[in-house]
Amino acid sequence: MVNVLVVEDEELIAAFVEKGLRAHGYGVVWVRNGREGLERAAGTDISLVILDLGLPDLDGLEVLQGLRERGGHVPVVVLSARARVADRVEGLNLGADDYLVKPFAFEELLARVRANLRPRGQRSAGTLLHVGGVHLDLLLREVTVDGRSVRLSGREFALLKAFVTYPRQVLSRQELLSMAWDMDFDTRTNLVDVYVRYLRRKLGEHMIVTVPRVGYRLRDEPGAVAGTPPQPFA
Ligand code: CA
Repeated sequence: MVNVLVVEDEELIAAFVEKGLRAHGYGVVWVRNGREGLERAAGTDISLVILDLGLPDLDGLEVLQGLRERGGHVPVVVLSARARVADRVEGLNLGADDYLVKPFAFEELLARVRANLRPRGQRSAGTLLHVGGVHLDLLLREVTVDGRSVRLSGREFALLKAFVTYPRQVLSRQELLSMAWDMDFDTRTNLVDVYVRYLRRKLGEHMIVTVPRVGYRLRDEPGAVAGTPPQPFA
């Protein structure tokens, strides 16, 4: 059974989400406040979290931050009445995998839940990508770097996939935003830079090269030597 944790204080919305998810075969755990949400989200039985932002005690963004700081990789779909772009970007910055603005149709939520759950099933040809020492399995969402397995959040995976899809190319922040976040507006935020930093931390600092004033590219030599020269414009 795939269990979804619903962190939502509004009973009508929680009941609506729970009923719909159960009808589609998901197990549902419902908690009404942020503190419990943070505790339950870390549980190994939870496959995905639907997280409201306006919550009693801990705010949804604090729950998200706490979860990621503790190393929790569970996919998080943020559910919120806050439609402002700044809130959306903040949520994504803090490690949300997806964002849905209230009011929403259940089918919309279901589509996000499905998209953000790790696909299960057989490997098939055409789902493996690799550049240099980096291997991606698109179906299982598994990543190895020089044979070492690396766990990535949904958004980190999407960003790495963009790099691996265009090997040896320098990708601008705008191109990366559009590929990994589906955002086409010209944003002045540092979303891409923040996630490049996360990826470097997990893959190795030298794996993503900063190209001053242009963007980033993936280093494509296997087992590339650590220790990038200082980047004056990074
Ligand atoms: Ca609420």
